[in-house]
Amino acid sequence: MIGYVDTRAALPKPVPFSEAILKGIAPGGGLFVPERVPRLTLSEIEALGRLPYRERAAEVFRRFELDLSDDQISAITRRAYGANFAHPDIAPVRALGRKRFSLELWHGPTLAFKDMALQCMPLFFSEALEKARGQGRPGGDFLVLVATSGDTGVAALNGFADRPHTKIAVCYPSGGVSVIQQRQMITQPGDNLTVFAVEGDFDACQSAVKAVFGDEEFAQELLVRHGLELSSANSINWGRLIPQIVYYVSAYADLVVQGHCPLGDPIDVCVPTGNFGNILAAYYAKRMGTPIARLLCAANANNVLADFLAGGVYDIADRRLVKTASPSMDILISSNLERLLYEASEDGRLVRRWMDDLKNTGRFELDTTVFSRLRQDLLGDWVDNETCLETIGRVYRELRYLIDPHTAVAWEVADRHARDLPMLVVSPAHWAKFPADVMRGLSGLPPGHPLPADEFELLGEVQRLAPDNPAPPAVHDIRTRPVRFTERVAGDRESLERALRDWLSQSS
Ligand SMILES: *Cc1c(COP(=O)(O)O)cnc(C)c1O
Repeated sequence: MIGYVDTRAALPKPVPFSEAILKGIAPGGGLFVPERVPRLTLSEIEALGRLPYRERAAEVFRRFELDLSDDQISAITRRAYGANFAHPDIAPVRALGRKRFSLELWHGPTLAFKDMALQCMPLFFSEALEKARGQGRPGGDFLVLVATSGDTGVAALNGFADRPHTKIAVCYPSGGVSVIQQRQMITQPGDNLTVFAVEGDFDACQSAVKAVFGDEEFAQELLVRHGLELSSANSINWGRLIPQIVYYVSAYADLVVQGHCPLGDPIDVCVPTGNFGNILAAYYAKRMGTPIARLLCAANANNVLADFLAGGVYDIADRRLVKTASPSMDILISSNLERLLYEASEDGRLVRRWMDDLKNTGRFELDTTVFSRLRQDLLGDWVDNETCLETIGRVYRELRYLIDPHTAVAWEVADRHARDLPMLVVSPAHWAKFPADVMRGLSGLPPGHPLPADEFELLGEVQRLAPDNPAPPAVHDIRTRPVRFTERVAGDRESLERALRDWLSQSS
């Protein structure tokens, strides 16, 4: 079994996978990381390319020696990666021009790559919970509480819907998500879930949720009255990361089996990055033996990561978050970076110092040894809004391939740094989730140019401009499903707790 240690050296000894999943965050505030990374040989990777995706995933999970049986793992991946995806290959690689490939991670039920993790992680969670109960763990069921600026909430609701022993409540900022994302959330079927529109912006929403997590009296009340413990499904949970490693191994195997890349030759990978989860999974895939040369970290105008990878200084002291056309990457503190810092330094006390510096002064600085180690694997760059939208238009004209604004950021960075190697560009969302900016990009309108407010109408217009890239059927379901959740909540702890109390007493 491979145990989990924490990035800030607080745990006295490694804990098993299932405990890392249930806890989410380590005591002391650090993140769980595997005590060692398993290796795959090249021929093992090639062999994966002949298996269906669910078996590729099961094989990668087995290599991590989870404390779950082979049968449990197979049952999980069969259920996570099946007919819930609109493409039989789950995460297909599409060849587009010379040595350029798109890894399409948006064939899941909510049309964004968060599904790759969140169709699977709740199943890990259920197994871990069963196991803990079997071992006489006290306590009860879980209430997963999520603050979202969009894709995470949608995918978490879908993944946790009707899971046993779990309830989920998602809070989104009332004015801060797209119409389509809002619609996806407020129409989500399932008996164990609810959705609140929190007044204010994402920061207000997130602070209210954090305050609920920090309220021990409320935690006690939940446990006594409803038998519930609070948990979060955010991207720092290792259960969300491990499913993401699979698609990088899988993509390389596909390139080999399809004859695009001789076995063992390296590829470059370009990932549009926000919280650093997706690119971190690529880093682990590389550590497992996948021949990845460079990891290109593509950012938008919130380019703190690009600066960090250029100079070794992470500095948000004088930065303000700016709104961009790629909202899922509008992030200043990339939580999962902490795991990379640990892997590069192998020193939890150092990581703790950097994280303390960040909290106290808004910046930290790597020493040259760790920085040069990071630079061996990673290169950062960033793209402004105007270029992002231009890229959507340009790629469509050149390749008849319609991309969303997040993919466009990565595409442009990949173009700037392309070499004579296959380049895998990660496409994290279907264009139909962001019809306004796709429309601007296609028709050459500048960022912010006013368009009709009705996103479904815009979808139709994009469709007329690019009829060869149809919107998926899921979009029409979203449009026609009945609205279930309309409750608005003020952006403070008391109001949110009251709303949760009311919901729980009605639903139990
Ligand atoms: C979540 C998300 C991202 C950012 O991914 P990280 O793992 O947080 O770096 C990028 N694009 C889309 C569409 C997303 O949903």
